[in-house]
Amino acid sequence: MRAAVFDGPGMPLRLAEVPEPHAGPGEAVLRVHACGICGSDLHATAPGGIARPGGILGHEVAGIISELGPDPIGTWSVGDRVFVVSRFTCGSCGWCLIGQGHRCDQIRFIGALGPDEPDGAYAELLRVHTNDLLRVPDGVGLDIAASVEPLATGLMLVREANLSIGDRVLVMGGGPIGLATVAWARFFGARRVVMSEMVSHRLSLGTVMGATDLIDASGVDDMGAAVTDLLGQPPDIVIECVGLPGVLSQAIDIVRHGGSVIAGGVCMQPDSIDHVAAYFKEPTVRFPATYTTEENAFVIEMIAAGRLDPTPMLSHRVTLDELPAAFEALRRPTDQCKVIVTP
Ligand SMILES: [Zn+2]
Ligand SMILES: [Zn+2]
Repeated sequence: MRAAVFDGPGMPLRLAEVPEPHAGPGEAVLRVHACGICGSDLHATAPGGIARPGGILGHEVAGIISELGPDPIGTWSVGDRVFVVSRFTCGSCGWCLIGQGHRCDQIRFIGALGPDEPDGAYAELLRVHTNDLLRVPDGVGLDIAASVEPLATGLMLVREANLSIGDRVLVMGGGPIGLATVAWARFFGARRVVMSEMVSHRLSLGTVMGATDLIDASGVDDMGAAVTDLLGQPPDIVIECVGLPGVLSQAIDIVRHGGSVIAGGVCMQPDSIDHVAAYFKEPTVRFPATYTTEENAFVIEMIAAGRLDPTPMLSHRVTLDELPAAFEALRRPTDQCKVIVTP
């Protein structure tokens, strides 16, 4: 099959013919119909990143089952339309057996995001465990289903923040995770949702996804003052979706006394925090790692019910042939949002 292979930092993805995967016990092979390019793929393939050279990235995936191994978990058939809860679990440990695959003893993450992690879906075919599949409802396109992963991440971030109805929220960063976070914060009853972002196209998407206020971060010296000015008080919750050194510290600086700070951007470098400033703020700071199967199921149900529309976030579609160039282009500030690969 054809796939885009990662050779190492500084090198663009390379299209290659690689062996086709086959389904072992409990597993399935999907024909990939859509796979989102994720910011974490860009971080992971940058110098110092965790991506596995020789691996295939891509973890935001929907497709059609083309092969089933023996003893699948669930009632699946070849031809079923599915999306992947973006991981590879064992399906048989205590956690998997009670439906908590996110705590699986042997959890791995598809998309070569680490030395031992299995290959992902920048390819024609993907091997997954049936424990990590969810059905795509009729009427929901597979390219839409591929956007569940960032939406589930945003949902997880908002849940971790313990948002109460009427809260004032700042979301830092308007990439796909930031936009998803904006949408869920509003969905669950935030009175005000301020989104800060430097790229003007992403700022306008913020409004579409539910932000009540926007801050153009490129023109602001003191973000805390700008937010407090808008809201009349510091925000109750700050959700950081940037993932660069210094942003978490800035979030702690901005949040109200005793508020919640959520580290949603995955900063790949060690970062420092001003402890004394944090003590004076007494914030709850959380680093949520991975969403649950239920969160993924909730997202697709809300999309199917018309309660949440991710289409404004899907900015471009590229073929596998166009992927290497599109991938490199996303490393620079861009007005693109979620780019979907359709092999
Ligand atoms: Zn992702
Ligand atoms: Zn397990």
